[in-house]
Amino acid sequence: MMNGFFMDAPQVYKRTRIAPTPSGYLHVGNALSFIITAGLANETGAQTLLRIDDMDRDRADDLYVQDVFDTLQFLDIPWQQGPRDLQEYKGQWSQIFRLDRYNAALERLRQSGQIFACNCSRSQLKGHAAYPGTCRHKNIPLDAPEVSWRLKTEPASISVKNLNGYITEDLPAEMTDFVVRKKDGYPAYQLSSVIDDVHFGVDLIVRGQDLWASTLAQLYLSRVLGLPFGGAAFYHHRLLLGSDGTKLSKSAGATSIKYMREQGLSTVQVLNIIAKQAGVNEVVNDWKQLYEKLKAKL
Ligand SMILES: [Zn+2]
Repeated sequence: MMNGFFMDAPQVYKRTRIAPTPSGYLHVGNALSFIITAGLANETGAQTLLRIDDMDRDRADDLYVQDVFDTLQFLDIPWQQGPRDLQEYKGQWSQIFRLDRYNAALERLRQSGQIFACNCSRSQLKGHAAYPGTCRHKNIPLDAPEVSWRLKTEPASISVKNLNGYITEDLPAEMTDFVVRKKDGYPAYQLSSVIDDVHFGVDLIVRGQDLWASTLAQLYLSRVLGLPFGGAAFYHHRLLLGSDGTKLSKSAGATSIKYMREQGLSTVQVLNIIAKQAGVNEVVNDWKQLYEKLKAKL
C-alpha cells in the first residue's frame, strides 16, 4: 500500500518535520501522517521539527494551532524542535517571523525577471489543467493591487530522492507558471515551504500523495533559487479517504481528533480508529506499534 516505503539499507537523516496548516481541526489523515513522520524519524535518527504553516492568513486561527498541540500530546507523538505551545508559536515560531526570508527570495526572483503578475480570477482559471499563460505577456505591474506573482516555468525533468533512490518526472502541467506570491501579498505555500525546509536543514520530508505535484514544484523552485534542497529525501504516503471515498477535510466533524477526544475516547481507542482506516486490522497500543504495523504491511 505504501509503495517505496522501505529502504534496503539503514539510512540516517538529520531532520524531518511535522508541518500542519492551522486552518481546521486535524483529522485522522493528519494524525497518520504525523505517526509515519515520527516513526521514520525514530528509525533514521532524525530530529522532528514542528512547523506550523500559517501563511494562509485568512484561515489560520489560534484555535487550530492549539488543536495541533492538543492532538500531538493526546497521541503522545514527540517532537524535538519548534514551539512547545501556543505562546511559543506566537512569540517566535509563526511563519510571520520568517517573512523577510520569503520576501528576499521573491525579490531575487523579481530581479532575475522570472516572475510576472497575474490578475486572473479563480473562475477564469477553472477548468484549465494548466495555467493557460493568460498574463505572461500582459506586463501587469508587479506592484499592482490584487495580483499574484507567478514563476515563468519551463518544461523540466525533476529528480525526486525517495527512501530507495531517485524518481525522475516532468514538472506537471498543473504546476505550469505556479504562484509564488499570493494576491494578498504573502508568499505562496510552494515558496514558504521550500525556504523553511532549507532554512531548518530538513532532509527528510513525509507528506501525503496529494502533495506530489507540490514536491516537484518545490524542487523546481529550489533549482531556480540555487538552494541546496535536491538532497532532501521524500516519502509520499497514501491518503486516508472518508467513508464516501473522498479526501478528508479539516472540520469539526466525526473524523477530527478533537471530536473523538471530546467524545471521551482514549488515546489507544483513537489510534485503533486510525489503524483501521489505514487498513491495519490488528490492535495497537501506541503510535509506535501502529507505525510498525503500517511498515509490515508493505
Ligand atoms: Zn493570469
